[in-house]
Amino acid sequence: MFELIALPYGASDLEPVISERTLGFHHGKHLQAYVDNLNKLLPGSGLEGLKLEDIVCKAQGGIFNNAGQILNHNLYFTQFCKGGFPLKDGALKAQIVKQWGSFEAFQTEFVAKGVGLFGSGWVWLSAKKDGELVITQEPGASNPVTQGLKPLLTFDVWEHAYYLDFQNRRAAQLEALWQIIDWSVIEKRYK
Ligand code: MN
Repeated sequence: MFELIALPYGASDLEPVISERTLGFHHGKHLQAYVDNLNKLLPGSGLEGLKLEDIVCKAQGGIFNNAGQILNHNLYFTQFCKGGFPLKDGALKAQIVKQWGSFEAFQTEFVAKGVGLFGSGWVWLSAKKDGELVITQEPGASNPVTQGLKPLLTFDVWEHAYYLDFQNRRAAQLEALWQIIDWSVIEKRYK
């Protein structure tokens, strides 16, 4: 049985970027529904007892969609903190600067890829096995683990992630998310 992850911050700690109301629906209703659905679908599927990442890599249809959305949201919700935490000098920052020229240039491309994703999905920063970084656009419930990548950072571009706070202004929401990213979490994922 999978369980709804606990949030590592208070319900209003991410305001005004993510309101308490949005967090309540997004974590308490949308993610809870994916957890409940997966727990109903898994018995008899042959995938019981597997890790979430392995289910996402092996499953299709409803199980893939719900398991993928749990994995995506677990990584999404645990990458934030009140006020954000900056990316310090280190391997990840050096790799970003090496590939994009500057941290700001990376941020610009990341947001542009999120804005440019048609419909519902996710934009991801992931690492290849050799440490090289890649930005991917993932439709629906997809996750970069299905391509052998290690997912590091993600922006949810499903409308349920921002519509209550930003309505149709997806770009404004994505730009604002930088304020609450906990880069110490992203660095740990990169190691
Ligand atoms: Mn979502």
